Amino acid sequence: MKIYMETYGCQMNVSDSGKITHLFAEQGYSLTETSSDADLIVINTCSVREKPELKIFSALGRYIPLKRQRPELVIAVGGCVAQQWGDKLLKRCPGLDIVFGTHQLDSLPDLVAKVRQSRRAVSVTEFLKCPGGLEVMAIPAAGTVSAMVTIMQGCDNFCSYCIVPYVRGREYSRPSAAIIEEVGKLAQAGIKEVMLLGQNVNSYGLQEKNEISFAELLALVHDISGIERIRFTTSHPKDMSDALISAFAELPKLSPYLHLPFQAGSDTVLSRMGRGYTAADYLEKVEKLRRAVPMIALTTDIIVGFPGESEADFQKTLDMLEKVRYDQIYSFKYSIRPGTRAAGFEDLVADEEKRERLARCQGFQDEISQEILAAQVGSVSEVLVSGPSKRGAGEWSGRTGENRIVNFPAPAGIQVGDLRRVKIVTALKHSLKGEVIT
Ligand code: SF4
Repeated sequence: MKIYMETYGCQMNVSDSGKITHLFAEQGYSLTETSSDADLIVINTCSVREKPELKIFSALGRYIPLKRQRPELVIAVGGCVAQQWGDKLLKRCPGLDIVFGTHQLDSLPDLVAKVRQSRRAVSVTEFLKCPGGLEVMAIPAAGTVSAMVTIMQGCDNFCSYCIVPYVRGREYSRPSAAIIEEVGKLAQAGIKEVMLLGQNVNSYGLQEKNEISFAELLALVHDISGIERIRFTTSHPKDMSDALISAFAELPKLSPYLHLPFQAGSDTVLSRMGRGYTAADYLEKVEKLRRAVPMIALTTDIIVGFPGESEADFQKTLDMLEKVRYDQIYSFKYSIRPGTRAAGFEDLVADEEKRERLARCQGFQDEISQEILAAQVGSVSEVLVSGPSKRGAGEWSGRTGENRIVNFPAPAGIQVGDLRRVKIVTALKHSLKGEVIT
C-alpha cells in the first residue's frame, strides 16, 4: 500500500506529516512521490496564508477524479483548514472521504479502515484535552541530521489577527519525560540537531501541574549525548523569561539563533494586535539576549498594513529593523482571517499602500541581510554538515550555529552529520561560501 502526502504551511505541519507517515509505515504503507499510484492521499492544510481553501479545492480537483480509475483510493484532508471547515468540506467536495482535525492525527489509520469498510465519508474535528498524535514520533527524512520534536500545541494568546487558537486549540504541553525519551531515541538513530516545536514554546509547561519550565527542558535536552545542536520555534516575546535568555549563555549546544516575531514597530498597532508588549519591551529583551550572547542571530515575522497602520506607524517598523538588525525577516501584507477579532476592524489600509510598504520593508531588510552576510567573510564557523549542496558542482552544504547556510567544496571523507570548521570566503545573496579547514 502507498501513501501520498501533500503538506502546506509551517514546520508544525511538516512535523505532523512525518507523524502520519510513521503511523502508516507501521501499517505497511510506503511513501510515494506520485499521487497517481497512491492508495491513500493525505492533504495536510494550513490556514495562516490568504485564501488557503482555494489551494485545497484545486488539489482535490486533481485528486478526486483519480477515483474513477481507482475506486479503492481514499482521500483525507487534515490540518487547520480541515479543523475550520469540518463536515462542510465533505459537502463542498463530493468524493472526499475523510476530514480530520488538528487533534485527530492519531485516529487517521482507524478512520481510513472505517471508510474502506463502509465507503461512507467521515469528519472528526472536536478538540480534546490532550491533542491526539502528540506522542507519535515524526520520522525524520532519510539521510537527515536534524529532526523536529513537538513539545506543545495550541495557543492561549489570541492575537487579534491570528486564527491559530481557533484551529489548534488551547495550549497543551507534552510531559517532559516523553520529550526527553523521544530526543534520546533520535540521538540513538544518528540525529545531531533537534528543533523543539510549538506555537509558543516559551510558555511550555505553564498550564500543566508540576511540569518544568521551557528553560529547564532545554537543559535536560542539552544533557542528551549525541545531540550537538538545539534550536526551537516559535517564541512569543512577552513570554521570553530571563532564565531562557540565560540558557543561551549557559548551554553551548543551544544554537545562537532565535526567531522572535515582533510583527510591528508601533505601540498603537501592537496594542490593536493584542501582542502584550511594546516596542521598548521587545528591544529590552533583544538587548538582554545580546548581552548574554553578543553574536546571536535573530529573525522575525512582520505584518505590514495592519488596520489603522499609518505611515508614521510603519516607519517605526523600519526603525525596528535598523535597531535590531535581523539576519532575515518573514514579512507579509495583512489580510483578513474570517473568525478573528481583527476581521471586524475598520480603518483598513489600501492594498496598494500595503504592497508599497511591504516592498520598502523588504528592500530595506535586504540591505541589512547583505551587510550581515558580508561581515562574515574571513571568519571561521563550525558548520553542521547536512549533505551535498543543491547547487551541485561537487559542493556540500551545512549551517552555522547562527543558522546561516554555508556551501563549500567537499573534502575527502566528509560525512553527513560532521561538525567542521569552515572559513567563510564569499557572501552571496542568501548564503555563504567557505572552505573546510583541515
Ligand atoms: S502567539 Fe499570537 S500569532 Fe502566535 S500563534 Fe498565538 S495567537 Fe497566533
